[in-house]
Amino acid sequence: MRVDLSDWTPRAPLHPLKLDWLTRAGVDVAVLRLDLIDPLLSGNKWFKLKPYLQAAKAAGHAGLISLGGSHSNHLHAVAAAGERFGFSTVGLLRGEPCETPTVCDLRAFGMQLHWLGYGGYRARHQADFWQPWLQRYPALHPVPEGGGGLPGAQGCIELVDMARRQMAGLGWSDYHAWWLAAGTGTTLAGLVLGEAGQCPVYGALAVPDDHGVARRLAETFAAAGVADTGYHLLDASRGGFARVDAELAAFLHASEVGSSMTFEPLYTAKALLALRSQVEAGCFAPGSRVIFVHTGGLQGRRALQGELDRLAGSVDSPKN
Ligand SMILES: *Cc1c(COP(=O)(O)O)cnc(C)c1O
Repeated sequence: MRVDLSDWTPRAPLHPLKLDWLTRAGVDVAVLRLDLIDPLLSGNKWFKLKPYLQAAKAAGHAGLISLGGSHSNHLHAVAAAGERFGFSTVGLLRGEPCETPTVCDLRAFGMQLHWLGYGGYRARHQADFWQPWLQRYPALHPVPEGGGGLPGAQGCIELVDMARRQMAGLGWSDYHAWWLAAGTGTTLAGLVLGEAGQCPVYGALAVPDDHGVARRLAETFAAAGVADTGYHLLDASRGGFARVDAELAAFLHASEVGSSMTFEPLYTAKALLALRSQVEAGCFAPGSRVIFVHTGGLQGRRALQGELDRLAGSVDSPKN
């Protein structure tokens, strides 16, 4: 793998978020715009991927093999990076073959796809899952689902400095909390490692609480040799990962109009809606400054646009 990672070190801008519910509560929020780092390699996935690319390069591997669903932002980032930096990629997909906007992109980026079915995909946590794939693709480096694990978290540590360096530009001398959407919790773990106890990190869970996020975080911090503290998790999933409802669709629309930023429904809009609930419940004192991480993922929104429009329409239409 010839990829030179020092050639590309994206910087996410930090932008103030002005929405009426924040103004009313006197809470300042700035958004770390990972959605703006690159049109193709958007969001937190690039930062989680970087340590795996470094390991693959050090091991002399020719590319990456990873896994995800047919809307996966992670596989999208892996495939886009492969095309950008000229290494081969293989994707192991959940379910039966289907054509989503994401799958079309994966193919266009040159990723080779294998569909595992649902049962086959569930086997990914078994100890011998990777063995046949690594036998078949001995030149490829495996990346766990979502770019998780300690290396993925370590790739996100730099986000803390990235935000701190830009604080003064907003007139901030410090901040009181981080707020972000959490799926595997890997990005959150990186922020916790970067803060080293100086500032709490709030993870708005995009998946219902019972999906083992807390256990995996404890494992990650144990592997890093640090205490399992410095963060709070809350359920922001609104009943399930892929669930989209009318209130969410209306909130997403209003937030985009109010902020001139774009969000997607499953992670960033749910995280922002959960923040509004906490702000309106008085969980942050007036004068608090919060950094919201825009984790990107806008490519995944394409498949949901029709449903969002339908739901938004059902809210807007007059009740005769
Ligand atoms: C993957 C993803 C997340 C979750 O990141 P984790 O590190 O798995 O917690 C959040 N937001 C978006 C947009 C994502 O694509």
